[in-house]
Amino acid sequence: MIQIIENAMLTTGSKVNIVVKDSKVIEVTNQYFGEGKVISLPEDVYVSPGWIDLHTHSFPKFEPYCAHPDEIGYKTGVTTVVDAGSCGANDIDEFNEVSQKSKTRVFSFINVSSVGLKIRNELEDLSLLSLEAIEKAIEKYPEMIIGLKVRMSASVIGNNDTKALEIAKQFSKRCNKPLMVHIGSSPPKLLDIIQYLDRGDIITHCFNEKPNNHIFSDKETNNALRAAIERGVYLDIGHGTSSFSYPIAIKAREKNIPFHSISTDIYEKNRINGPVYNMATTLSKFLSLGYSLEKVIDSVTTIPAKIMNNHEIGVIQKGAVADLTFFSIEKQEKMLKDSFGNELVVKNQIKPHAVMIGGNYYECKSDEVKTSN
Ligand SMILES: [Zn+2]
Repeated sequence: MIQIIENAMLTTGSKVNIVVKDSKVIEVTNQYFGEGKVISLPEDVYVSPGWIDLHTHSFPKFEPYCAHPDEIGYKTGVTTVVDAGSCGANDIDEFNEVSQKSKTRVFSFINVSSVGLKIRNELEDLSLLSLEAIEKAIEKYPEMIIGLKVRMSASVIGNNDTKALEIAKQFSKRCNKPLMVHIGSSPPKLLDIIQYLDRGDIITHCFNEKPNNHIFSDKETNNALRAAIERGVYLDIGHGTSSFSYPIAIKAREKNIPFHSISTDIYEKNRINGPVYNMATTLSKFLSLGYSLEKVIDSVTTIPAKIMNNHEIGVIQKGAVADLTFFSIEKQEKMLKDSFGNELVVKNQIKPHAVMIGGNYYECKSDEVKTSN
């Protein structure tokens, strides 16, 4: 089936027609005279590649860090969710089942600990880390598993300091998959974590403000971070309940420390009660912090696709998968908090209206979630 999205406004402001055949984009053009089902968009509606949330908790099995992929996915304008370590090798079959049943595309950074987030101190017992189990899982689900996840926080690692990270890094090299590292409360020190990371690895929760263990804690840590970015390590936002700080984000902008991807670290509680709510709210915060619409949308489309090493999504071009997000920007003041209780009055709010996933069109139902404090 041919579908023609007429009058599609890109984030650059230019308008095009996007022609979709079955699940793929076959043409992006100013004029199209062929036959097909026309989707006509109102003047003020933007079209971007489908949004990709690189850090979510999309495995409903393990409470409390869980959500259904479609609740945090297509219903909120997100066409692809990546589960960041909720699931380990033990439950990967069940995770795959959930993924198969979802309209939203679902990928995994598999937890290096086989139990995943069934427990919250998954790296205290190092015997739970098994290369063999991870290799088996990847062999079974080579497309779905895009990397490995390790959580470096005091409450997770017991007395192991960076030992689990050292092991995770070895696993990541052996599997030839990038490592996503959660940073948080020390130990371990952020400085000690950064040294393990190579090109393609990801630091999530990059703008957190945990005492004495964030990117501006001291000069040495900050220099190590800059060197890591230089060698190709990515910085991911991972907003979450306790991991995103406006003051750190503002300082990062002033000091020219770039972030790469905007992700939510969303799960049931921070989805319903905030401070995350959904991806659109997170993106609106970045608009309000002074980033351009193009930069904000790139950070949730093109850049995460690149981090995932996925060439089919994150772009609107001939041959790409027809994953699109339709949204508008509404002038509406709202006070939105970061994870540390700091307040920001957001004047422009991004509102998703619909998505297309592999050529299938779905309306968003994000208004079901209240976003006022
Ligand atoms: Zn998380």
